[in-house]
Amino acid sequence: MTQKINFDPIRKDLCEIGRRVFQHGWVAANDGNFSVRLAEDEFLVTPTGVSKGFMDPAKMVYVNLAGDSLDGKGKVSSEWKMHRASYEKRSDIGAIVHTHCPHATAFSVAGLALDKAVLPEQIYSLGAVPLAPYGQPGTHDLYQGMLPFIEKSNAFLLKNHGVVTYGKDLWEAFFRHEALEHAARIQILARQVGKVETLTRDQVNALYEARTEAGLDPHWIDCRCEGEEE
Ligand SMILES: [Zn+2]
Repeated sequence: MTQKINFDPIRKDLCEIGRRVFQHGWVAANDGNFSVRLAEDEFLVTPTGVSKGFMDPAKMVYVNLAGDSLDGKGKVSSEWKMHRASYEKRSDIGAIVHTHCPHATAFSVAGLALDKAVLPEQIYSLGAVPLAPYGQPGTHDLYQGMLPFIEKSNAFLLKNHGVVTYGKDLWEAFFRHEALEHAARIQILARQVGKVETLTRDQVNALYEARTEAGLDPHWIDCRCEGEEE
């Protein structure tokens, strides 16, 4: 069955997203990994040990959920455990993007979630972006801290590490990443020129109603307004 499906466009999309992530400066050296769910137990994953800016579509790794190669080619990244834990918990996740995008990662290093009600675009599309506790990359610990957030949000920060976003497809996961990094950058700039002011509770509620009416993805965490507790 799988032989009949042409995965070439998805292989190319993985490389195109790799180029954009590299050009944005969201990764250094061989950082980052992305994956796409092709079928219930079939995935394409970026290969381990290569710069995401210079990937070859033919080198994308084709695996099952256990991380075993389905065509005998390539080796899955040690970070696959993190992707696997996410796909196992939510059948609606079609793709995952993980990078070390610097502005959002700076929040994770400072021990801060991106959960303030600052920008309507973030509130509407992503909601609050929680901070998962630190886990050593490449080990089972990496995703243990993520587990409580997988079913609540499509984006989260990994403490002292980076960012993970989910999407129904690769582009949605990438654009969520872009939105999150942009929101983090604006907050950092705002801190430099003055203080970060939040929207009011009524304004946040109106955005929530609008996104509900529009039928947006329900994985969403409420943002904090001024004076509301963490
Ligand atoms: Zn990482």
